[in-house]
Amino acid sequence: MLPEFTLSRPADIDEVLRELNADVVPYAGGTELLLAMKMGLLVPSGLVDLKRIPALREISASESAIVIGAGATHDEVARHELIQAHAPLLVQVEQNVGNARVRSQGTIGGNLCFAEPRSDLLALLAAFDATVLLRSVRGDRTLAMAEFVLGPYWTDRAEDELLVSVAIPRPCPTGAYVKLQVTERPTVGVAAVRTAAGRCRVVVGSVTEVPLVVAGASWDDIDADGIVAQVEPVSDIAGSAEYKKHITGVYVRRAVALARDGAV
Ligand SMILES: Cc1cc2nc3c(=O)[nH]c(=O)nc-3n(C[C@H](O)[C@H](O)[C@H](O)COP(=O)(O)OP(=O)(O)OC[C@H]3O[C@@H](n4cnc5c(N)ncnc54)[C@H](O)[C@@H]3O)c2cc1C
Repeated sequence: MLPEFTLSRPADIDEVLRELNADVVPYAGGTELLLAMKMGLLVPSGLVDLKRIPALREISASESAIVIGAGATHDEVARHELIQAHAPLLVQVEQNVGNARVRSQGTIGGNLCFAEPRSDLLALLAAFDATVLLRSVRGDRTLAMAEFVLGPYWTDRAEDELLVSVAIPRPCPTGAYVKLQVTERPTVGVAAVRTAAGRCRVVVGSVTEVPLVVAGASWDDIDADGIVAQVEPVSDIAGSAEYKKHITGVYVRRAVALARDGAV
């Protein structure tokens, strides 16, 4: 059962910002939030529904970036023509998030703010060198992914801040993303991309507490064994720590091989 809470449905971002505090929290798709409330892990007294704010779902392009509103669902991101034209790797990843319900209800902003470590987007957006725009009544802040995601279920977002959008610098890196998913969430996810500056970047996620970023001048500089030595998985229903370490090496090599051969 859900505990009791108040629900407000503001029509614009300013109204949201006036309401947010430690006890009154944003409610986007609810795929994580409502579950956590049912389990008694989160007990906010009020939810602020973001779904009626069109500005939070907008996806646009400037000369320097693709900007995705935090309230865009996984499906909306995957189907948007700008994302399809400029970030096909993101399309591929979004199409394979969770299940149909999660993709149609869950938002990109909710994924990042919940910071569940087993996330494809935390790793891919780190590989893309994306930034997040946070807004409160005190003003705006722009953070790199590594500054934003501090640990499992832990971000630098203050309780009165709203994640407004995610910006991916243009041209968006190309490459590959591979994941092992034996439960509803990824066990290991690896992005291998070539950046606009020609650098090779590998990001390992889901098996780590926060995405692990490794870069080099060429693919030969990416040391899969060195990466495996850095990850410290925990044993759980998806596999033993030893198995996850082994799989990490396999997936790093696979992502690099795909990115080297021809990228999305
Ligand atoms: C069964 C299942 C399978 C999944 N599989 C995958 C997978 O394969 N890959 C993957 O990457 N992810 C996966 N996920 C995670 C999924 O992507 C997230 O559940 C979803 O994106 C969360 O978005 P939401 O809009 O539902 O967030 P909500 O549940 O509404 O919110 C989550 C948290 O973020 C906060 N929040 C939401 N929006 C904002 C905002 N704009 N600003 C500030 N705070 C905000 C809320 O207050 C809450 O604390 C899975 C989830 C489930 C339940």
